[in-house]
Amino acid sequence: MSQRIFRIDEIRELKRKFQEKKTESVDKSGQERTPVSLDQAEEKRRIFDLYSLFQAANQIYLSSDQNRLFFNFAQNLQKQLNTKSVLILLPEPGGKQLKAKYSKGIDFLQFSELSLEEADPLYEKFKEKESVYQLYQLLEEYQGNEFLARLISQGFQICFPLSLPDDKLGLVLIGGSTEGIRYSQEVFLILNFLSNVLNVSLKNITQYKKLEELSYTDSLSGLYNHRYFVKRLSEEIFRAKRYQRKLAFVIFDIDEFKIYNDSFGHQSGDQIIRQLGELILKVVRSIDIVCRYGGDEFCIIMPETDQEECLKFIERLRKSIQHHPFVDEFLQMEHHLTVSAGAAIYPQHARTVEKLIYGADMALLNAKNSGKNKTLVYSGEEIPLKNTVQL
Ligand code: GH3
Ligand code: MG
Repeated sequence: MSQRIFRIDEIRELKRKFQEKKTESVDKSGQERTPVSLDQAEEKRRIFDLYSLFQAANQIYLSSDQNRLFFNFAQNLQKQLNTKSVLILLPEPGGKQLKAKYSKGIDFLQFSELSLEEADPLYEKFKEKESVYQLYQLLEEYQGNEFLARLISQGFQICFPLSLPDDKLGLVLIGGSTEGIRYSQEVFLILNFLSNVLNVSLKNITQYKKLEELSYTDSLSGLYNHRYFVKRLSEEIFRAKRYQRKLAFVIFDIDEFKIYNDSFGHQSGDQIIRQLGELILKVVRSIDIVCRYGGDEFCIIMPETDQEECLKFIERLRKSIQHHPFVDEFLQMEHHLTVSAGAAIYPQHARTVEKLIYGADMALLNAKNSGKNKTLVYSGEEIPLKNTVQL
Protein backbone atom coordinates (compact mmCIF):
# COMPACT_ATOMS: atom_id res chain seq x y z
CA MET A 1 0.00 0.00 0.00
CA SER A 2 1.19 3.54 -0.78
CA GLN A 3 2.94 5.55 1.92
CA ARG A 4 1.80 8.88 0.49
CA ILE A 5 0.41 11.25 3.07
CA PHE A 6 -2.65 13.17 1.97
CA ARG A 7 -2.59 16.93 2.06
CA ILE A 8 -5.16 18.89 4.05
CA ASP A 9 -6.81 20.21 0.82
CA GLU A 10 -7.22 16.62 -0.46
CA ILE A 11 -8.87 15.60 2.79
CA ARG A 12 -11.14 18.67 2.60
CA GLU A 13 -12.15 17.64 -0.92
CA LEU A 14 -13.06 14.15 0.32
CA LYS A 15 -15.00 15.66 3.19
CA ARG A 16 -16.85 17.97 0.74
CA LYS A 17 -17.79 14.99 -1.43
CA PHE A 18 -18.98 13.16 1.63
CA GLN A 19 -21.14 16.14 2.71
CA GLU A 20 -22.53 16.42 -0.86
CA LYS A 21 -23.57 12.78 -0.82
CA LYS A 22 -25.19 13.30 2.56
CA THR A 23 -27.29 16.32 1.43
CA GLU A 24 -28.24 14.79 -1.94
CA SER A 25 -30.52 12.32 -0.24
CA VAL A 26 -32.17 14.87 2.05
CA ASP A 27 -34.69 17.55 0.93
CA LYS A 28 -34.99 21.11 2.31
CA SER A 29 -37.24 20.10 5.21
CA GLY A 30 -34.70 17.54 6.23
CA GLN A 31 -36.83 14.59 5.05
CA GLU A 32 -35.25 11.72 3.12
CA ARG A 33 -36.01 12.51 -0.56
CA THR A 34 -35.71 9.11 -2.07
CA PRO A 35 -34.65 5.86 -0.53
CA VAL A 36 -30.88 5.55 -0.92
CA SER A 37 -29.88 2.52 -2.97
CA LEU A 38 -27.57 -0.09 -1.43
CA ASP A 39 -24.85 0.93 -3.89
CA GLN A 40 -25.14 4.57 -2.83
CA ALA A 41 -25.09 3.63 0.84
CA GLU A 42 -22.01 1.50 0.28
CA GLU A 43 -20.31 4.30 -1.64
CA LYS A 44 -21.12 6.73 1.17
CA ARG A 45 -19.71 4.37 3.77
CA ARG A 46 -16.53 3.87 1.78
CA ILE A 47 -15.97 7.60 1.34
CA PHE A 48 -16.56 8.13 5.03
CA ASP A 49 -14.16 5.30 5.95
CA LEU A 50 -11.53 6.72 3.61
CA TYR A 51 -12.01 10.21 4.97
CA SER A 52 -11.54 9.11 8.57
CA LEU A 53 -8.56 6.93 7.63
CA PHE A 54 -6.87 9.88 5.92
CA GLN A 55 -7.58 12.00 8.96
CA ALA A 56 -6.02 9.35 11.21
CA ALA A 57 -2.95 9.10 8.94
CA ASN A 58 -2.49 12.86 8.99
CA GLN A 59 -2.82 13.06 12.74
CA ILE A 60 -0.14 10.37 13.12
CA TYR A 61 2.08 11.94 10.48
CA LEU A 62 1.90 15.42 11.99
CA SER A 63 2.86 14.28 15.51
CA SER A 64 5.75 16.43 16.69
CA ASP A 65 7.46 14.05 19.11
CA GLN A 66 7.68 10.35 19.87
CA ASN A 67 5.30 10.40 22.86
CA ARG A 68 2.62 12.18 20.89
CA LEU A 69 3.22 9.93 17.89
CA PHE A 70 2.60 6.72 19.84
CA PHE A 71 -0.32 8.26 21.68
CA ASN A 72 -1.96 9.41 18.41
CA PHE A 73 -1.27 6.08 16.75
CA ALA A 74 -2.81 4.00 19.57
CA GLN A 75 -5.80 6.31 19.84
CA ASN A 76 -6.50 6.25 16.09
CA LEU A 77 -6.05 2.52 15.92
CA GLN A 78 -8.71 2.03 18.57
CA LYS A 79 -11.03 4.40 16.71
CA GLN A 80 -10.45 2.89 13.26
CA LEU A 81 -10.34 -0.80 14.09
CA ASN A 82 -12.11 -1.09 17.44
CA THR A 83 -9.11 -2.81 18.97
CA LYS A 84 -9.22 -3.60 22.67
CA SER A 85 -5.58 -2.93 23.38
CA VAL A 86 -2.32 -1.62 21.99
CA LEU A 87 1.11 -2.16 23.55
CA ILE A 88 4.37 -0.66 22.26
CA LEU A 89 7.75 -2.10 23.21
CA LEU A 90 10.98 -0.18 22.69
CA PRO A 91 14.66 -0.92 23.32
CA GLU A 92 15.89 -0.11 26.81
CA PRO A 93 18.48 2.73 26.45
CA GLY A 94 21.92 1.17 26.86
CA GLY A 95 20.38 -2.26 27.49
CA LYS A 96 19.95 -5.39 25.46
CA GLN A 97 16.23 -5.91 25.72
CA LEU A 98 12.83 -4.62 24.64
CA LYS A 99 10.56 -3.21 27.33
CA ALA A 100 6.92 -2.15 27.34
CA LYS A 101 6.78 1.67 27.03
CA TYR A 102 3.28 2.71 25.90
CA SER A 103 -0.13 1.14 26.24
CA LYS A 104 -3.73 1.90 25.45
CA GLY A 105 -6.81 0.04 26.63
CA ILE A 106 -4.88 -2.04 29.19
CA ASP A 107 -3.35 -1.52 32.61
CA PHE A 108 0.26 -0.61 31.86
CA LEU A 109 1.48 -1.77 35.29
CA GLN A 110 0.56 -5.32 34.30
CA PHE A 111 3.18 -5.11 31.54
CA SER A 112 5.82 -2.89 33.09
CA GLU A 113 8.03 -5.91 33.80
CA LEU A 114 7.50 -7.51 30.38
CA SER A 115 10.74 -7.71 28.42
CA LEU A 116 12.28 -9.54 25.50
CA GLU A 117 16.04 -10.10 25.59
CA GLU A 118 17.99 -9.55 22.37
CA ALA A 119 19.48 -13.02 22.94
CA ASP A 120 16.00 -14.64 22.78
CA PRO A 121 15.63 -16.40 19.38
CA LEU A 122 12.21 -14.78 19.07
CA TYR A 123 13.91 -11.36 18.95
CA GLU A 124 15.65 -12.27 15.67
CA LYS A 125 12.38 -13.64 14.29
CA PHE A 126 10.58 -10.37 15.06
CA LYS A 127 13.41 -8.52 13.32
CA GLU A 128 13.08 -10.60 10.15
CA LYS A 129 9.41 -9.70 9.73
CA GLU A 130 8.67 -6.59 7.73
CA SER A 131 4.97 -6.01 7.93
CA VAL A 132 1.84 -6.79 9.93
CA TYR A 133 1.28 -10.43 10.89
CA GLN A 134 -0.65 -12.58 13.34
CA LEU A 135 1.15 -13.78 16.46
CA TYR A 136 -0.31 -17.27 16.32
CA GLN A 137 1.75 -17.85 13.14
CA LEU A 138 4.83 -18.01 15.39
CA LEU A 139 3.33 -20.48 17.85
CA GLU A 140 4.37 -23.68 16.14
CA GLU A 141 8.01 -22.63 15.72
CA TYR A 142 8.30 -21.00 19.18
CA GLN A 143 6.25 -23.32 21.34
CA GLY A 144 7.25 -22.90 24.96
CA ASN A 145 8.63 -19.39 24.41
CA GLU A 146 7.56 -17.53 27.57
CA PHE A 147 7.35 -14.11 25.99
CA LEU A 148 5.14 -15.28 23.12
CA ALA A 149 2.94 -17.34 25.45
CA ARG A 150 2.43 -14.31 27.70
CA LEU A 151 1.44 -12.07 24.77
CA ILE A 152 -1.06 -14.55 23.42
CA SER A 153 -2.51 -15.30 26.86
CA GLN A 154 -3.04 -11.55 27.35
CA GLY A 155 -5.09 -11.41 24.16
CA PHE A 156 -2.57 -9.88 21.75
CA GLN A 157 -3.22 -11.06 18.20
CA ILE A 158 -1.32 -8.85 15.77
CA CYS A 159 2.21 -7.53 15.66
CA PHE A 160 4.41 -5.36 13.48
CA PRO A 161 7.99 -4.06 13.84
CA LEU A 162 9.09 -0.45 14.23
CA SER A 163 12.04 0.95 12.25
CA LEU A 164 14.39 2.40 14.84
CA PRO A 165 17.87 3.91 14.51
CA ASP A 166 20.97 1.69 14.91
CA ASP A 167 19.12 -1.32 13.55
CA LYS A 168 17.22 -1.70 16.84
CA LEU A 169 13.86 -3.40 17.05
CA GLY A 170 10.62 -1.96 18.38
CA LEU A 171 7.31 -3.81 18.45
CA VAL A 172 3.67 -2.83 18.23
CA LEU A 173 1.22 -5.41 19.62
CA ILE A 174 -2.48 -5.20 18.97
CA GLY A 175 -5.20 -6.98 20.95
CA GLY A 176 -8.49 -8.42 19.69
CA SER A 177 -11.49 -6.46 18.46
CA THR A 178 -13.89 -4.99 21.05
CA GLU A 179 -16.74 -6.69 19.15
CA GLY A 180 -15.05 -10.06 19.62
CA ILE A 181 -14.98 -10.71 15.86
CA ARG A 182 -12.03 -11.82 13.73
CA TYR A 183 -10.19 -9.07 11.94
CA SER A 184 -11.04 -8.97 8.23
CA GLN A 185 -8.67 -8.72 5.29
CA GLU A 186 -9.63 -5.04 5.01
CA VAL A 187 -8.46 -4.47 8.58
CA PHE A 188 -5.05 -5.91 7.70
CA LEU A 189 -4.81 -3.55 4.72
CA ILE A 190 -5.62 -0.58 6.94
CA LEU A 191 -3.11 -1.77 9.53
CA ASN A 192 -0.40 -2.11 6.93
CA PHE A 193 -1.14 1.41 5.77
CA LEU A 194 -1.11 2.86 9.31
CA SER A 195 2.04 0.92 10.27
CA ASN A 196 3.79 2.46 7.24
CA VAL A 197 2.63 5.92 8.29
CA LEU A 198 3.86 5.26 11.83
CA ASN A 199 7.28 4.09 10.64
CA VAL A 200 7.72 7.02 8.23
CA SER A 201 6.75 9.46 11.01
CA LEU A 202 9.11 7.78 13.46
CA LYS A 203 11.99 8.18 11.00
CA ASN A 204 11.12 11.86 10.46
CA ILE A 205 11.02 12.54 14.19
CA THR A 206 14.35 10.73 14.75
CA GLN A 207 16.00 12.68 11.94
CA TYR A 208 14.58 15.96 13.21
CA LYS A 209 15.93 15.16 16.71
CA LYS A 210 19.37 14.40 15.26
CA LEU A 211 19.38 17.72 13.39
CA GLU A 212 18.26 19.56 16.51
CA GLU A 213 21.04 17.90 18.52
CA LEU A 214 23.57 18.93 15.87
CA SER A 215 22.36 22.52 15.96
CA TYR A 216 22.95 22.55 19.73
CA THR A 217 26.37 20.87 19.65
CA ASP A 218 29.78 22.52 19.53
CA SER A 219 31.64 20.57 16.87
CA LEU A 220 35.10 20.85 18.45
CA SER A 221 34.40 19.90 22.06
CA GLY A 222 31.24 17.84 21.50
CA LEU A 223 29.61 19.84 24.33
CA TYR A 224 26.43 21.91 24.04
CA ASN A 225 27.02 25.24 22.30
CA HIS A 226 26.21 28.82 23.29
CA ARG A 227 22.81 28.70 21.58
CA TYR A 228 21.71 25.73 23.67
CA PHE A 229 23.20 27.21 26.82
CA VAL A 230 21.11 30.43 26.63
CA LYS A 231 17.91 28.43 26.05
CA ARG A 232 18.69 25.94 28.81
CA LEU A 233 19.77 28.49 31.41
CA SER A 234 16.49 30.38 31.07
CA GLU A 235 14.56 27.06 31.36
CA GLU A 236 16.52 26.10 34.48
CA ILE A 237 15.96 29.53 36.07
CA PHE A 238 12.26 29.16 35.35
CA ARG A 239 12.26 25.71 37.02
CA ALA A 240 14.25 26.96 40.03
CA LYS A 241 11.80 29.86 40.43
CA ARG A 242 8.80 27.57 40.18
CA TYR A 243 10.03 24.98 42.69
CA GLN A 244 11.86 27.54 44.85
CA ARG A 245 15.23 25.86 44.39
CA LYS A 246 18.76 27.18 44.15
CA LEU A 247 20.85 27.07 41.02
CA ALA A 248 24.56 27.64 40.51
CA PHE A 249 26.11 28.97 37.34
CA VAL A 250 29.85 28.62 36.67
CA ILE A 251 32.02 30.09 33.90
CA PHE A 252 35.63 29.10 33.55
CA ASP A 253 38.39 30.06 31.19
CA ILE A 254 41.72 28.44 30.35
CA ASP A 255 44.67 30.40 31.74
CA GLU A 256 47.20 31.76 29.23
CA PHE A 257 45.72 29.82 26.34
CA LYS A 258 46.95 32.33 23.82
CA ILE A 259 50.51 31.62 24.91
CA TYR A 260 49.78 27.89 24.65
CA ASN A 261 48.59 28.31 21.05
CA ASP A 262 51.57 30.49 20.20
CA SER A 263 53.93 27.86 21.66
CA PHE A 264 52.40 24.61 20.42
CA GLY A 265 50.13 25.63 17.56
CA HIS A 266 46.35 25.91 17.19
CA GLN A 267 45.87 22.23 16.31
CA SER A 268 47.45 21.28 19.59
CA GLY A 269 45.19 23.88 21.26
CA ASP A 270 42.15 22.30 19.62
CA GLN A 271 43.11 18.97 21.17
CA ILE A 272 43.17 20.63 24.59
CA ILE A 273 39.65 21.99 24.09
CA ARG A 274 38.41 18.53 23.04
CA GLN A 275 40.09 16.72 25.94
CA LEU A 276 38.97 19.38 28.43
CA GLY A 277 35.36 18.80 27.31
CA GLU A 278 35.75 15.06 28.02
CA LEU A 279 37.36 15.69 31.39
CA ILE A 280 34.63 18.08 32.57
CA LEU A 281 31.93 15.60 31.60
CA LYS A 282 33.64 12.98 33.79
CA VAL A 283 33.75 15.29 36.80
CA VAL A 284 30.22 16.78 36.72
CA ARG A 285 27.03 15.18 38.06
CA SER A 286 24.52 13.78 35.59
CA ILE A 287 22.12 16.67 36.26
CA ASP A 288 24.71 19.35 35.44
CA ILE A 289 24.68 20.92 31.98
CA VAL A 290 28.09 21.59 30.45
CA CYS A 291 28.45 23.98 27.48
CA ARG A 292 31.23 25.62 25.55
CA TYR A 293 30.50 29.31 26.02
CA GLY A 294 32.92 30.31 23.24
CA GLY A 295 36.70 30.49 22.63
CA ASP A 296 38.48 29.04 25.66
CA GLU A 297 35.48 29.63 27.96
CA PHE A 298 33.20 26.89 29.25
CA CYS A 299 30.18 27.05 31.52
CA ILE A 300 28.21 24.72 33.76
CA ILE A 301 24.59 25.08 34.84
CA MET A 302 24.20 23.29 38.17
CA PRO A 303 20.57 22.76 39.21
CA GLU A 304 19.71 22.30 42.91
CA THR A 305 23.09 23.68 44.01
CA ASP A 306 23.87 26.32 46.66
CA GLN A 307 27.00 28.42 47.10
CA GLU A 308 28.80 25.97 49.39
CA GLU A 309 28.22 22.93 47.15
CA CYS A 310 29.14 24.96 44.08
CA LEU A 311 32.44 26.16 45.57
CA LYS A 312 33.34 22.61 46.60
CA PHE A 313 32.56 21.39 43.09
CA ILE A 314 34.52 24.03 41.15
CA GLU A 315 37.55 23.62 43.42
CA ARG A 316 37.46 19.88 42.70
CA LEU A 317 37.12 20.58 38.97
CA ARG A 318 39.93 23.14 39.01
CA LYS A 319 42.27 20.68 40.74
CA SER A 320 41.34 17.80 38.39
CA ILE A 321 42.19 20.03 35.42
CA GLN A 322 45.45 21.21 37.00
CA HIS A 323 46.62 17.63 37.52
CA HIS A 324 45.35 16.22 34.26
CA PRO A 325 47.97 15.21 31.69
CA PHE A 326 46.60 16.51 28.35
CA VAL A 327 47.96 14.35 25.53
CA ASP A 328 49.41 16.04 22.46
CA GLU A 329 49.21 13.54 19.61
CA PHE A 330 51.04 15.83 17.15
CA LEU A 331 54.03 16.61 19.34
CA GLN A 332 53.89 13.30 21.24
CA MET A 333 54.04 14.95 24.65
CA GLU A 334 51.90 15.79 27.65
CA HIS A 335 50.82 19.29 28.69
CA HIS A 336 49.50 20.75 31.91
CA LEU A 337 47.11 23.68 32.01
CA THR A 338 45.13 25.57 34.61
CA VAL A 339 41.76 27.31 34.56
CA SER A 340 40.14 30.14 36.50
CA ALA A 341 36.47 29.96 37.40
CA GLY A 342 33.74 32.32 38.57
CA ALA A 343 30.27 31.41 39.84
CA ALA A 344 26.99 33.10 40.75
CA ILE A 345 24.00 31.62 42.55
CA TYR A 346 20.27 31.96 41.89
CA PRO A 347 18.46 33.63 43.66
CA GLN A 348 21.11 34.87 46.11
CA HIS A 349 23.09 36.87 43.53
CA ALA A 350 20.85 37.10 40.50
CA ARG A 351 17.41 36.11 39.25
CA THR A 352 17.74 36.43 35.47
CA VAL A 353 19.93 34.90 32.75
CA GLU A 354 21.72 38.18 32.10
CA LYS A 355 22.43 38.94 35.76
CA LEU A 356 23.60 35.40 36.51
CA ILE A 357 26.09 35.56 33.61
CA TYR A 358 27.18 38.99 34.74
CA GLY A 359 27.79 37.77 38.32
CA ALA A 360 29.79 34.72 37.22
CA ASP A 361 31.76 36.88 34.77
CA MET A 362 32.67 39.36 37.52
CA ALA A 363 33.82 36.52 39.78
CA LEU A 364 35.90 35.07 36.90
CA LEU A 365 37.48 38.48 36.30
CA ASN A 366 38.43 38.68 39.99
CA ALA A 367 39.90 35.15 39.81
CA LYS A 368 42.01 36.18 36.80
CA ASN A 369 43.07 39.47 38.42
CA SER A 370 44.11 37.77 41.63
CA GLY A 371 46.64 35.42 40.09
CA LYS A 372 44.66 32.86 37.97
CA ASN A 373 44.25 29.12 38.69
CA LYS A 374 41.54 30.22 41.15
CA THR A 375 37.82 29.70 41.81
CA LEU A 376 35.66 32.50 43.16
CA VAL A 377 31.96 33.01 43.77
CA TYR A 378 30.38 36.41 43.12
CA SER A 379 30.91 38.35 46.32
CA GLY A 380 28.43 41.23 46.07
CA GLU A 381 24.78 41.64 46.99
CA GLU A 382 22.02 40.72 44.57
CA ILE A 383 22.95 42.39 41.28
CA PRO A 384 20.81 45.47 40.56
CA LEU A 385 19.15 45.81 37.17
CA LYS A 386 21.38 48.67 35.88
CA ASN A 387 24.43 46.37 35.99
CA THR A 388 23.04 43.83 33.56
CA VAL A 389 24.56 43.35 30.13
CA GLN A 390 22.60 42.66 26.98
CA LEU A 391 23.25 39.18 25.51
P1 GH3 B 1 43.76 34.43 30.25
O1 GH3 B 1 44.61 33.70 31.20
O2 GH3 B 1 43.58 35.85 30.65
O3 GH3 B 1 42.50 33.77 29.94
O4 GH3 B 1 44.63 34.48 28.92
P2 GH3 B 1 44.36 33.80 27.54
O5 GH3 B 1 45.62 33.78 26.77
O6 GH3 B 1 43.68 32.52 27.70
O7 GH3 B 1 43.45 34.89 26.89
P3 GH3 B 1 41.95 34.80 26.44
O8 GH3 B 1 41.19 33.88 27.27
O9 GH3 B 1 41.48 36.24 26.36
O10 GH3 B 1 42.10 34.31 24.93
C1 GH3 B 1 41.57 33.13 24.50
C2 GH3 B 1 42.51 32.47 23.53
O11 GH3 B 1 42.01 31.21 23.24
C3 GH3 B 1 42.62 33.21 22.23
C4 GH3 B 1 42.68 32.15 21.18
O12 GH3 B 1 43.98 32.02 20.71
C5 GH3 B 1 42.35 30.87 21.94
N1 GH3 B 1 41.22 30.15 21.34
C6 GH3 B 1 39.92 30.50 21.33
N2 GH3 B 1 39.17 29.57 20.68
C7 GH3 B 1 40.03 28.61 20.26
C8 GH3 B 1 39.89 27.41 19.54
O13 GH3 B 1 38.80 26.99 19.12
N3 GH3 B 1 41.02 26.67 19.29
C9 GH3 B 1 42.23 27.09 19.74
N4 GH3 B 1 43.28 26.33 19.48
N5 GH3 B 1 42.40 28.22 20.41
C10 GH3 B 1 41.34 28.99 20.68
MG1 MG C 1 41.80 32.24 28.60
